[in-house]
Amino acid sequence: MTEQMNRPLPVTDDEETAGFWKAATGERLVVRSCNSCSLFLHLPKSYCHHCGSWDVGWREVGPTGSVYTWTVLMHSIHPSFPAPCTIVLVQLDEDPAIRFVGYLDGTPELASGTPVRVRFEHVEPGVTVPQWELAE
Ligand SMILES: [Zn+2]
Repeated sequence: MTEQMNRPLPVTDDEETAGFWKAATGERLVVRSCNSCSLFLHLPKSYCHHCGSWDVGWREVGPTGSVYTWTVLMHSIHPSFPAPCTIVLVQLDEDPAIRFVGYLDGTPELASGTPVRVRFEHVEPGVTVPQWELAE
């Protein structure tokens, strides 16, 4: 269990995103990709806009990225995210066009390009949310 309880829960059985959440429960970060031409399809799509294929799947990506941009919340917007906290937009090292929104406790010293690493927050049984932490 995580240190942060009562977090808002993602919808984990949506047809378009269930594979992402299922992989996260196994502590794997995956991105939708085309099985025909290998293009990443992020945000997840059920067809490939490049080659027109409907044969899509999930491909594991590396667990590292960097801060693209961020904002600091000085006023709490939800009890599970006490202020101050920092919302980050992370770009993956493997493909900087793939970006994820994440949450950092407090107000860490950040710069564009600050290295981060995924961590898996086990919110409740069967629900795991990929989050980010500063890389060592
Ligand atoms: Zn394709």
